[in-house]
Formats: sequence, C-alpha cells, structure tokens
Amino acid sequence: MIVILKTGTSPEDVERAERLLPTAHSVPGGRHVLVCEQSGNDDLVARAEALDCVERVITGTGPLRLSSRGYQATKTAVDAGGVTIGGREFVVAAGPCAVETAEQLDDVATAVALSGARMLRGGAYKPRSSPYSFQGLGVAGLELLAAQRERTGLPVVTEVLDPGDVEVVAEHADMLQIGTRNMQNFTLLREAGRSRLPVLLKRGMAATVEEWLLAAEYILKEGNDQVVLCERGIRTYETATRFTLDLSAVLAVRQLSHLPVIVDPSHGSGRNHMVQPLTLAAAAVGADGVLIDVHTDAATALCDGAQALSGAEFDGLMAALTPVLSAVDRPLGPRLHTLEQV
Ligand code: PEP
Ligand code: MN
Repeated sequence: MIVILKTGTSPEDVERAERLLPTAHSVPGGRHVLVCEQSGNDDLVARAEALDCVERVITGTGPLRLSSRGYQATKTAVDAGGVTIGGREFVVAAGPCAVETAEQLDDVATAVALSGARMLRGGAYKPRSSPYSFQGLGVAGLELLAAQRERTGLPVVTEVLDPGDVEVVAEHADMLQIGTRNMQNFTLLREAGRSRLPVLLKRGMAATVEEWLLAAEYILKEGNDQVVLCERGIRTYETATRFTLDLSAVLAVRQLSHLPVIVDPSHGSGRNHMVQPLTLAAAAVGADGVLIDVHTDAATALCDGAQALSGAEFDGLMAALTPVLSAVDRPLGPRLHTLEQV
C-alpha cells in the first residue's frame, strides 16, 4: 500500500501518520509518500484514508510500490548531467568498457562525441569474473573520466562496485552505474539511493523483471527517484552469444513501471557484429536509449574487446539509427559535445 500525503504536510503530521499506520515508512527526500508493507488489511486502508493529511491511497500494485505504474502513471524523466533519459529523445551513451589510459580514453571519447553520442561511458572499477583480470584504474580512472567530461561536454556514467565508493564516484561522474553482478547487492542499492546522482541499474543476468524492479525499489525507497533500468542480457543455455538479450523485457518493464529503460547490446551479445542490429531493434522496441562499448583499438582492449565497436563502426551505427528513430518518432537530441570538428 502506498499512501500519498498532501503537499506541505508538516513533519509532525507525517510522524502521526506513521504512528497510526504500523509498518509505514516515509520516503526521504520531501516526496510525502508512505510505503506500508502489504497486509491485505482493509482496516489499514480505511485508517489511512481517514487521515486529513492523506491525498490518496494506492493498493493492489503487487509487490511493486514506488516503481509501479499504479504509483505513477506518467513516465519518469531522469536528468543525467543535463541529458534527459525517459523523455522523447533516444539517448546514446558510448565509450570503452574500461578506462585504461589517458590516451585511450581521449581517443574513444573524441570518436563517440564526434559521432553524436550524448553520454560517455567507461568503467574505472571493473567487476571481473577472474581476480587476475584488469580490475580498473579506480580513482585515477574517475579523474580521467571527469577530465573528458570537461573536454567533451558529455556527461559521464560509470560503475560503482562498493558502497564505500559511492561518494567518490558521485564526485566525478554524472550517473552511477550498478552492474549486473551487483543488482542484488542491497547495501550498494541503499547507498546509491542516498546519493544525489541518478542511477543506471543493470538487470541481473539471472534476474526476473520483477526482481529487477524490486532492486530499483531499494533505490527509490531511499528517496532517489532518478533510476534508469538497463537490459543487458540474461543467462540462458545459448552459447552462440555471450548472453541472451531480452528485448521483450523492455516491453514488460514499460507495462509495469514508469522508469525509463535502456539496452546494452554490447554486453547483451558479446559480439561486435551484433551490436548495430540489436541497437536498431532496441530503438524499434521502444527503449529510451542504448549503452555501447567503443574502443579505438579493440585488439588491445583490456576488457571486452570482442564486443567493442571501432570509431568508424560506431559512426555507422549512429547513421543507421537515424531512420529507425524517425520511424518511431524519437529524436536523437542535439549534439552536446564542445569539440572542434576536424
Ligand atoms: C559494463 O557495462 O561495463 C559492465 C560491466 O556491464 P554488466 O554489469 O552488464 O556486465
Ligand atoms: Mn564489459
């Protein structure tokens, strides 16, 4: 049950409502919302409705609360460093899987910015299956990303692995990414929920859509309503691709939730030649954007080279995207970069 309080409800009245409605938790951040555990108790609904400070009570949203369409019918628009995700514009974020060196990031950022990407991606903290693989540059990588934001004008999205790093990542980036392997790291979700930055929440590789939305609830419940979901492929028995990109999940999320959803066809397929066609499919199915791995020298990439597009391939993808987006009536948005065209 979600209890929406009238705007301007005093803290004393919020406290009173919390006392009268056992199991009620108020959502921080001035949202005037109480979330109560599901009880199926009509009396509780009646009790809430009788309170003067209550605007409306929402029941029957299933396990979902703040992420549900019942709570909010209109789609959420998320502001990621000045780029709106979830509006009419289709947002392309691109960059290397991992930040490796200043020169590498400089090359990739230049390439993606000039081709029309509107956000720069790149991991400074890498969640690798093997502890012997490149783990990322950490704070030095964050500093390189922040420098590229200054140089290119593109907002930065980057992964945070550890709840203790949320603050330092937030100091350098415009959007926090929570990766597939951490989708149910509840401590991290809560900490990201307390951050002022928007959060890109990737789907766990073995998570159902409902589990994914419940993970988003952890962030929303802390008062951060700026959450974007990212479908990035799930584990199936298929070995022809790295993961199975579940584009139907975009439609499932759309029906259940007001949160924007983007697609990562790079991790979703793991195959360079599939990235462009899957991007076009993501646009056609109604995703709000894509997250693309680009590397200007994929053969030497320290992470996920097999799925990275070259600068020229990314440029081709952007050109191919234009007619698909106009068919679904979604603009790409104005170029944001401040680089000199060469
Ligand atoms: C990434 O985007 O760099 C990444 C590690 O993705 P995922 O969490 O989807 O594997
Ligand atoms: Mn990767």
